[in-house]
Amino acid sequence: MQATKGHAYGGAVNGPLAHVARIGGQCRALWNLFLAETADRYRAEGKFLFYAEMSAGLPRLLKDDPRLAGLPHRAAQMTVQRLDRALRDCAKAKGGARKGFPRFKRRDDRRDGFQFVGRECRFETGRVRLPKVGWVRVRGLRLPAAAAPKVVAVTQEPDGWHVSVQFEAPPKPYAAPTRPVVGVDAGLLHLAILSDGARIEAPRLARKAEKRIRRLNRERDRRRKGGVNRRRTVARLARAHRAVRNARRDHLHKATRRLVDAYAGFAVETLSLKGLARTRLAKSFADAALGEMLRQLAYKSRWAGREWRELPRFARSTGVCPACDATGPKLPLAVREWACETCGAVHDRDVAAAGIVLRRAVGGASPEPAGAVRRKRGFAVRGGERAQVRSSHGGPPANVAEVMVHD
Ligand SMILES: [Zn+2]
Repeated sequence: MQATKGHAYGGAVNGPLAHVARIGGQCRALWNLFLAETADRYRAEGKFLFYAEMSAGLPRLLKDDPRLAGLPHRAAQMTVQRLDRALRDCAKAKGGARKGFPRFKRRDDRRDGFQFVGRECRFETGRVRLPKVGWVRVRGLRLPAAAAPKVVAVTQEPDGWHVSVQFEAPPKPYAAPTRPVVGVDAGLLHLAILSDGARIEAPRLARKAEKRIRRLNRERDRRRKGGVNRRRTVARLARAHRAVRNARRDHLHKATRRLVDAYAGFAVETLSLKGLARTRLAKSFADAALGEMLRQLAYKSRWAGREWRELPRFARSTGVCPACDATGPKLPLAVREWACETCGAVHDRDVAAAGIVLRRAVGGASPEPAGAVRRKRGFAVRGGERAQVRSSHGGPPANVAEVMVHD
């Protein structure tokens, strides 16, 4: 499922945006109401309130509580669904990490929001019609002609209201690949390096925008809490953060699209992102969003029917010779180029590492005389036999279009 976003604007105090704000407040009240009830229940009986119960009580609540007058039933129902999901995440540990008890929402957070089902809304260029709200002008929201809107989310951000639409549409066809399967590895100076020597650059724009964010952060801290100026700075900050997010997303989507268009497939190493976060490189890795790049590469490969080989990270890939498979000494970070001690081939550090990923994924040209030894040393994969063609990164279903995200 892909999403496109727009910024809702215009609307006088009594116009559609006032309705949007009212519904946002009502959904916040509803969330807090059920959350308080759940907290009471938990204290008394050690049990949570779940969807069936909340949903059953909803029609009556909407009818009887004057604070909720005029709240569209669907928006209320979807608020309850989200609370239910938050409670379930809290109740059972998911992947080892249990989430905390959901929080009460405050008006001052200016983070209200609600959702509609796509078929209840109408879309035209520059505007969207929401149930019980009417037409809302929206800047930059563009849906492909064949798009079937699924979920329409209206959310408040410090600088105003935003509309995002998740939709399904037929995918844009990919070109026939002209290049063979390639190995992908994390670069130090680049976002990623391919085994054929191609490099994917990290977006440059983000750096500049980050400077602006740091400046705005300092400015915000100078402003009085609760003051108008502080709120203005926070709005500017939100816009700056969004600009960075969008620039990165745009860059990544274009880069991965180009890659999937060009190559017959990809061999990647599953990255231990937790491991990376502990290192000094964490910042530049997070910055480069390598994990997101691999996720996009995985699902786009699936859409395009490309080969996808994902190997567990089982050994170091730097310092291993892609020409003869000899393992040389560890390379300090400063060493960009090195020569193999066994065969004398000269390698670029990162390109060679990507070459090793490819070699392990598809099986090297050399036989595996040292197989037993390798096993002993903890290699899980031999000659690529157990390289898996799968995607653990998730991604949208196959019948969904890939669209640029606008803001
Ligand atoms: Zn060599």
